[in-house]
Amino acid sequence: MAALGAPAFRAGQLAEAIYRQRLTDLEAVTTLPLELRRRLRESGWQIGRPSIVQVFQSQDGTERYLVRCADEQTVETVWMPEGDGGEAGDGSEPETDDGPEIEPGRRKGKTWSRATICVSSQVGCAVNCQFCLTAKLGLQRNLSAGEIAGQVVAVLDRHAVEVGRDRINLVFMGMGEPLLNYDNFMAAVRLLVEEVGISPRRMTVSTSGIVPGIERFAQETDAVRPKLALSLNAPNNEIRGELMPINRKWPIEAVIDAVRKVPLRARERVTFEYVLLGGVTDRPEHAAEVARLVRRTGLPAKVNLIAWNPGPGIGYVMPQPAAVEEFRRRLEEQGIQVFLRRPRGRDIYAACGQLKRTVEA
Ligand code: SAH
Ligand code: SF4
Repeated sequence: MAALGAPAFRAGQLAEAIYRQRLTDLEAVTTLPLELRRRLRESGWQIGRPSIVQVFQSQDGTERYLVRCADEQTVETVWMPEGDGGEAGDGSEPETDDGPEIEPGRRKGKTWSRATICVSSQVGCAVNCQFCLTAKLGLQRNLSAGEIAGQVVAVLDRHAVEVGRDRINLVFMGMGEPLLNYDNFMAAVRLLVEEVGISPRRMTVSTSGIVPGIERFAQETDAVRPKLALSLNAPNNEIRGELMPINRKWPIEAVIDAVRKVPLRARERVTFEYVLLGGVTDRPEHAAEVARLVRRTGLPAKVNLIAWNPGPGIGYVMPQPAAVEEFRRRLEEQGIQVFLRRPRGRDIYAACGQLKRTVEA
């Protein structure tokens, strides 16, 4: 707008059109004078966002979207209606502080009263965790801030979400490692907070443990800092190093030291995600080790247990339900707050780690 000699408030109107009215065509932005729209167009500007090109619907209400960017690269985004904090792993309590819940169905055709959107930050991922399907893609490219925020806008639009009335949580737990695309990821968060209107307290970013990224994250203000989840996934460095090669660069102690620098808001906790791999990370002695490790951090913490979701070409096995329950019980017994994340959309490969770019589910 500045380049076109237009006043700054025109930029605000444009942001309003893209992020609140969710318009995808410059011609529809009638708050801008016709003449300005014409000059924008003639200078080569367009507006738009990544588009949902395929939808996979799960029996549990979860929807997985294949989302296409302007350059034809695709990522996946997931909509989980009725996702509560525990199962979504966003670290929020199922009942929180933003007023009485409004009955579902108050709007025609609306069957949910809250939902969690799982957002991708990169096309593929370079971190190469051995149990994760996204890793198989390698890193194709970073998403831009607009592409990250645009995924959310596309999903909000599809479900006619009224931001501010509907309870929407965002988890940056889709494809990619957000903290290896730090600038674009945080720019997207600022767009989502400032332009879309979602509170950072309703957002959780999950990281595999990128120490410099966590240290930068610790410098962000409360106004734009999402909650933090750390993919611990193993009881010690030996096992973690096998599962997550990144652990050899930044072992558990280094990651915890970085996490300690992140200021927490009132009642906020750090989430430790822990993927249970049958026979590999799900033994009773592992639970004891995890409890000690988490307690030693001295952090207000909670553990999110995730039973591993299988995928083609990955040589692990799912944990036995009894082992999962026993693991949970042992952590709880040690005074650790623990949630068992219910797998969502397993039938459509939308559960954690299953977001591999596919044309057929
Ligand atoms: N790259 C970030 C965020 C995306 S992965 C990270 O790794 O934290 C989100 C979560 O899914 C992580 O906790 C990861 O450990 C978990 N995950 C990956 N593959 C999985 C699988 N096959 N089954 C269950 N959880 C998985
Ligand atoms: Fe990347 Fe996260 Fe998958 Fe690891 S678990 S490969 S960091 S997306």
